[in-house]
Amino acid sequence: MQHVIISGGSRGIGKAAVKLFASKGWSVTCLYNSTVPESGDNVFAVKCDVSDADSVKEAFIKAEERSGPVDCLISNAGISVKGLAQDFNAGDYRQVMDTNFGGLFNLSNAVIPGMVSRKKGVIIAVSSMWGQTGASCEALYSASKGAVDAYVKSLAKELGPSGIRVNAVSPGVIDTDMLKDYSDEDLKDLADETPLGRLGSPEDIAKTMLFLSSDEASFITGQIVGVNGGFLI
Ligand code: NDP
Repeated sequence: MQHVIISGGSRGIGKAAVKLFASKGWSVTCLYNSTVPESGDNVFAVKCDVSDADSVKEAFIKAEERSGPVDCLISNAGISVKGLAQDFNAGDYRQVMDTNFGGLFNLSNAVIPGMVSRKKGVIIAVSSMWGQTGASCEALYSASKGAVDAYVKSLAKELGPSGIRVNAVSPGVIDTDMLKDYSDEDLKDLADETPLGRLGSPEDIAKTMLFLSSDEASFITGQIVGVNGGFLI
């Protein structure tokens, strides 16, 4: 049984990924922060704040004791803050960067040594199309995802010779709690702006993660894979 660790597995995209990987026979460690996830067959839930390196280290010890070495890491946990760039303060900066980029940094630091010693592994980060284009009133969020993209490309170059593939999935507008501040009219406008005419589902992203984790993607590394219904082309 292969072992995948998925951060932010308690809600939204991560929850869909936990369900899909478990249904395909993976042993899943589901990292959550404040929302206790549903447990199920093959799913081991571990509390972990991804912005805290010590919390990540402790979670990895528990996960590997129970389910063995990690074959695939999915760094998915993230938060968004909206507002004018000039109004963000140092606390906003730290919270967004420490969660969205720091989460990837802490999780990959925990997983890389084992993968390097086994000469195999897959790392998948969840980015955002705003990391590629920038978004008005989401400057900090966009910057944190831009950092994720650059880190993914760098890790792919550094770890490719050790047999480790590193990619990002870059979602468009996906129907999760992250959109809870949008009105129905805003959501309709976003769907209309999407060439495929709808919002994405968490499952759309989970299926792409499953593909990237598989040998079907064995020659794909260092890519920022857009899953956005054509919103960004
Ligand atoms: P949700 O708000 O639905 O879920 C966010 C998840 O992240 C929750 O499981 C939450 O856990 C977890 N999380 C937040 N902070 C921490 C932390 N410090 N430590 C551990 N877990 C944490 O968001 P989505 O599912 O939509 O987002 C998942 C990823 O997809 C994010 O990286 C987001 O930036 C990205 N994304 C989403 C888009 C969208 O339109 N929805 C578009 C582009 C990218 P808990 O509930 O336990 O606190």
